Amino acid sequence: MKIPFILAKRFVAGESFTESIPKAKELNKKDLKLTLDLLGENIDDRQTATDTVDAYIRLLEGIKEQDLISSISIKLTMMGLDIDHDFTRENLFRLLDVAKAQDQFVRIDMEGSDHTQITLDIFKEAFEKYGKHVGTVIQAMLHRSHNDIHELAEMGADIRLVKGAYSEPSKIALQNMPAIREAFKEQAKVLLEKTPFPRFGTHDDELIDWLKSYAAENEISKDRFEFQMLYGLREETMVQLSDEGYSARVYVPFGTDWFPYFKRRLMERKENVWFVLSTMFKK
Ligand SMILES: Cc1cc2nc3c(=O)[nH]c(=O)nc-3n(C[C@H](O)[C@H](O)[C@H](O)COP(=O)(O)OP(=O)(O)OC[C@H]3O[C@@H](n4cnc5c(N)ncnc54)[C@H](O)[C@@H]3O)c2cc1C
Repeated sequence: MKIPFILAKRFVAGESFTESIPKAKELNKKDLKLTLDLLGENIDDRQTATDTVDAYIRLLEGIKEQDLISSISIKLTMMGLDIDHDFTRENLFRLLDVAKAQDQFVRIDMEGSDHTQITLDIFKEAFEKYGKHVGTVIQAMLHRSHNDIHELAEMGADIRLVKGAYSEPSKIALQNMPAIREAFKEQAKVLLEKTPFPRFGTHDDELIDWLKSYAAENEISKDRFEFQMLYGLREETMVQLSDEGYSARVYVPFGTDWFPYFKRRLMERKENVWFVLSTMFKK
């Protein structure tokens, strides 16, 4: 059964870039920066992966044409990671050539733990070649992140720190919220100390308040790091953070392949389910 897009509308800006432009402009007008994300994951044929890279390149061009303040996020499984690693690297570098030529930024989102090592390996190669035009994501909940964060911070990499959206076994990941928050804070300290401009992707007030106080206590200025949140969640908080002088960026997903992303948002928070259910009863 195909689920109607109207249910996903709270979390997904549109089914195409063109459809998402008005929302994107509205957010930029509120002084919020953007990360546009063409939705999709786990592509298993080469032609679709190649077409996806072309679509990402058109997205970079669209951002320029529309004068949006936006970077993009990509997933390596959309560029062929489940098919062939060399092919994926070539695809990523083709995109990064354009990003570098146009002075734009591409972030490699982090996916499930089967892909962590290869994603970081490919990121490190990309970082060596493209420097400030590429960044990636670390999931605080993974046990391995304690080491990964140090290594990436030493490199001065551009990292978005998040809790982690994928369900992982206890052997490799923390399972309870207090422990995940503690890991997030420890890793955030490393990024704040060693990297020029860390990004923190969270809607969690405890972490947001902690980041603000930690930065103030350690004389880290408000414009030396960034808060990031997902489209459709806590927009007022983002505007307030921006008004207070912090850098604030909204992650704006769009595209027809929205179901897996939509499902993760519903799994994260029961209020999201209620919101979606309530839209079923509205015109
Ligand atoms: C910009 C961005 C990019 C991301 N990229 C990735 C990625 O590449 N890979 C990945 O695995 N995951 C990614 N994530 C998802 C992330 O890993 C978490 O799954 C997700 O952010 C939920 O964790 P949280 O800290 O936001 O809050 P949660 O753990 O969901 O909630 C904790 C507390 O925060 C508060 N809260 C949460 N949501 C709201 C709300 N809407 N309104 C009010 N209070 C709220 C509540 O007090 C809640 O109890 C990303 C998240 C963001 C924001």
